[in-house]
This record gives sequence, structure tokens and C-alpha cells, in this order.
Amino acid sequence: MPSGRSVKNIHLVTGGAGFLGSHLVDRLMEAGEEVICLDNYFTGRKVNIARWIGHPRFELIRHDVTEPIKLEVDRIWHLACPASPIHYQFNPVKTAKTSFLGTYNMLGLARRVGARLLLASTSEVYGDPEVHPQPESYRGCVNPIGVRSCYDEGKRIAETLCFDYQRMNGVEVRVMRIFNTYGPRMLPDDGRVVSNFIVQALRGEPLTLYGDGSQTRSFCYVSDLIEGMMRLMNGAHTGPMNIGNPDEFTIRQLAELVRARINPALPLIEKPLPQDDPMQRKPVIDLAREQLNWHPTVSLEQGLDPTIDSFRKVLNFRDHPEA
Ligand code: NAD
Ligand code: UDP
Repeated sequence: MPSGRSVKNIHLVTGGAGFLGSHLVDRLMEAGEEVICLDNYFTGRKVNIARWIGHPRFELIRHDVTEPIKLEVDRIWHLACPASPIHYQFNPVKTAKTSFLGTYNMLGLARRVGARLLLASTSEVYGDPEVHPQPESYRGCVNPIGVRSCYDEGKRIAETLCFDYQRMNGVEVRVMRIFNTYGPRMLPDDGRVVSNFIVQALRGEPLTLYGDGSQTRSFCYVSDLIEGMMRLMNGAHTGPMNIGNPDEFTIRQLAELVRARINPALPLIEKPLPQDDPMQRKPVIDLAREQLNWHPTVSLEQGLDPTIDSFRKVLNFRDHPEA
């Protein structure tokens, strides 16, 4: 930042050492803002925010959002929550606590200090949708007692809390329903489909389709997602607002795109489909277009290349640390 430039706001980023959180921290720091990054390092890593450690506008706090915290901040970007099924199912009760108590604590903080809070909610609030594509008005089809419920229902109650704090206490909230997002800094072993396929292909292993690979997802590149997040926080609309890339792909198509870039000879193998795995997912983004003038700019074909490059570097280092 050029010296003498005034700091605009103090930003708290919960989950700031994670995949999306660390890209958001970069964006805020590069804009000259003051940033407090809060994380318990369950799935986040210090290396993601290492470039900012020691910077005068940056602070790092090890803290679990299920416990209250007192801080003076203007903006709360509430991202803390494991996002990949294997991580959120590792301790489902803790995941539900993180969503409920974490959001409750952050809304309490927002109320106390008059901060605006953005909740990183999810397309999972639509469950296994019977309406396709999904507009924000769709209320979803979520199994309340299945293996994904800790996450899906956790995010649904987190959204409920946001709007009740707004109605009861006048807290300014922004609720963002994030659709599948990918890019550099996803954990190579977090089990999400983009990272799984890239890591498998780079290691020369078969790509694992769960089921027959006919289920669909819509993949948003991380820079587009962060742009949408910034616009939602800074705009006037509370949401809930879908932010995602409406280009829909079957999982088999994704596997074919990945192997074509790395090793077209690799086999695709079928494995059992996990319980309650949504069969289709694609956002309606009319609201984001109208209210934020936002739309994605990076196609899946374009976004895969830098993502593959970043995984190649991480795996080279992991597999050959001496090199
Ligand atoms: P991530 O797992 O990389 O990041 C989550 C971060 O939160 C990690 O740094 C983790 O250590 C931290 N965290 C988890 N529990 C915590 C707790 N109790 N206290 C403090 N920190 C805690 O996941 P991500 O992909 O960066 O997701 C960030 C947010 O966006 C999550 O809330 C997730 O639900 C939401 N989201 C992500 C996607 C996606 O495709 N990446 C899609 C929908 C929603
Ligand atoms: N998936 C797959 N192979 C994998 C990992 C995931 O076929 O190695 C499928 C998974 O069953 C789901 C889709 O890819 O249908 C997206 O999975 P992910 O966990 O990335 O996201 P989510 O299901 O939470 O949208």
C-alpha cells in the first residue's frame, strides 16, 4: 500500500486461512484495508496467508468461532466452516455447532459493534433440488437426518439467525449462497471433485466417478466468486443471493476435461454414489446480475489450467520435498 493512504475499514475474516477466506484476505489486503484473520486451522493453513504475516495492516488470531470473541471491527466476513463433505462429516456435531454457534457469536459481535456481516452460505440449502436451475426463492429439498444434514441444515439455521438478527436488532446482513467453487489453494486431499480429479490425474491414477457421473454441478472460479462476494458486501441487497457459474457440467464431463489436460489415457472408474448426493445443481444468477452487475468471467476450461498448475507445484513439493 502506498504510505499515507488511509485505512477504510477493519475487516474480520473468519475462516481466513482456508481456501476462499485466504483469497478474500488477499483481495482486502491488496485494496489497502485492515484485516483480522481468524481461524482454528481445522482445514485452513497458515501458508495460505503467510505472505501477510508481519504486515502492519494484518493480524492473525487462532480462535474457534464456537466461542465468543470481542473485537472492534466494521465488516465481518463469516466463512468459518468446513466445506468439503469428508471434512464436515468428520465430526458432524462440531460442524452443526460451528454453523449455529459460530454464526450466533459473530452476529452477537456484529450487533455489539455495529458491523455488517456477510454469511458464506451455500447452494446446499437447496439440498437435492426438485427445481432446476435453482433461484433464491426455491426453498429446497433437504434431508434433515442424513449424513449431509449437519452442513445443509447448519447453513439453513445460520441463514435464519441472520435474518432474525436483522429483524430484531437491525444488524446489517448479507447472505451469499455459494455454488461449487474451485481454484488454487483447495486442499489436495479434501475429497472435493475438482481437487480429487486433478490430484488423481497428476498421480497417474484412475479418476473416480461416484455413481455413473451423470449428476451435474456448476463450477465457479475463485476470482469470480470473490468479486461477487465483495460486491454483495458493499452493495445494498441483503440476499440471500446465489453466486456461482451457471455453466452446468456432468461429473463425467468434468473428468474428461481434466484428463484431457493431464493424461487422456487415464481410465474413469465408477464408485458408489454417497448418500443424499444431489443429482443436479445450477444457479439462477439473475439477482446478482441485476443487483450487483455481477456475472462470472472465467469458464471452466479457462479456470482448470491455473488450478492444475497450482496442484502440480503443491504435489511436486509434497512428493519430492528435497527437490
Ligand atoms: P475451507 O475448509 O477451505 O475453509 C474453511 C475455513 O474455516 C478453514 O480455514 C477452517 O480452518 C476454518 N474453520 C472451520 N471451522 C472453524 C471454527 N469452528 N472456528 C474457526 N475457524 C474454523 O472451505 P472453503 O471452501 O474456503 O469454504 C469457506 C466457506 O464458504 C464455508 O463457510 C463454506 O461453507 C462456504 N462455501 C464454500 C463453497 C466452495 O465451493 N468452496 C461452496 C459453498 C459454500
Ligand atoms: N464426486 C465424484 N468423484 C470424486 C469426488 C466427488 O464423482 O472423486 C462427485 C460427488 O459425488 C458429487 C460431485 O462430484 O456428485 C461434487 O462433489 P463435491 O464433494 O466436490 O461437492 P458437493 O457434492 O458438495 O457439491
